[in-house]
Formats: sequence, structure tokens, C-alpha cells
Amino acid sequence: MAAGFHLDEDCLLEYGAGSLDEAWGLAIATHLSFCPSCRSRTMEFEALGGVTLDDLPASLINDDALAVCLKRLDEETPATIQHCLTRTSVLPSVLHHYTGGNLEKVQWRRVGGGVRQAVIPTEGKAVARLLRIPAGVAVPDHGHGGKELTVVLSGCYADGDRLFQRGDIQEVDGSVEHSPNVVGTEECLCLVATDAPLKFKSFLPRVAQRFARL
Ligand SMILES: [Zn+2]
Repeated sequence: MAAGFHLDEDCLLEYGAGSLDEAWGLAIATHLSFCPSCRSRTMEFEALGGVTLDDLPASLINDDALAVCLKRLDEETPATIQHCLTRTSVLPSVLHHYTGGNLEKVQWRRVGGGVRQAVIPTEGKAVARLLRIPAGVAVPDHGHGGKELTVVLSGCYADGDRLFQRGDIQEVDGSVEHSPNVVGTEECLCLVATDAPLKFKSFLPRVAQRFARL
């Protein structure tokens, strides 16, 4: 499996330098666990910059399973990728450290429209959360006070004419307003990192936002 949407160089360089908030690092590490292409680019940056895995936050690399998984991902064999995912969870091993690896044991909060979220405790100002969005649901039209990184873990969503599927990552900055729409028959499970609250354009989501802290 190869992800269709990737990280830009600046993002990978900052990640390689270990200078990002944990929430960003988590989103990037999650994409890397799906994406041999970005993984090998990160390795190149690390080699160029003299940065090694030893310099990355321990929480992102202390999972032996992740190291084994990433090594195998470099071999780019779909069967091996499947081996790296647990049978009971769609969560890649990098997220097991944060969630216990079982979606059903995560403490979900309903945030309206059938959407559920679980904030993942991380150090720093940026916030990481898992979102479960039912099939056919569109996240209300919103802009961003800052950057937003979204990694698809299951299902897929469309944003304009682009389709984001498992492993894909989308980076959105403060200038973008969009209304991603879950397509297909499955719910969409995403990991989302943000550094500022979303800016909803209509009144009702703004009210909901006060309760959901989106
Ligand atoms: Zn990639």
C-alpha cells in the first residue's frame, strides 16, 4: 500500500530535527508508519543533518514494534504492512502507546452529527485527537487559526476533488477554508493535529465547538 498524499520537505525536516510539538510528531510518525516514501526521505534528511533517531522524542520511538514495523515497511511489501497492524485494531503501532491499541477502549465524546472525538494527551501547545466521522457526514465549513494535519486511519474523505484514504496525510494552513466530506459506506477514523481551534463559519457549529473544544 502506498499513501497518495505526503508530507512536504519543511515538515519532514522539522520532524527530523525533533523540534515539533508532540502532537505534530505523532501525526507525522503515524503517516510515516504507512508511507515508505516519506520514511526514506526522513532518513535522508537525518543523514544530511546528522540527526539520528536518538534525537527524536522517546515517546515516538521507544516502541520496539514500531522500529520493527518501520524496518519492514522499507521493504514495501503489502503483506508485511498487514503484519504490522493488529488484528483487533486499525491503529498503527505508533498509536498503541497513546491509546492502548484498542479503539473500543478509547474514551469517546460525542461532538454532534454522530461525530466522536478523543483527545490524545500530548506535551506542548498543539492538540492531537482521534475523530470518528460517520459515512456521509461533512465536517461543517471551517477555516483554521493555524496549521492542521490529518492522517486517515480508516475509511476515506473527499476534500474538493481530492480523495484521502488510509495512510494519507493532509496539511492545511490558516488560509484554507474547507468542508471535508466522508465518502463510501464506512465511517472515517482520522488522527488530527491542530495548533489553534477551528473557525466554523456558521453559528451552530460555533456553539457546538464551545462544548467540544474542537
Ligand atoms: Zn508519505
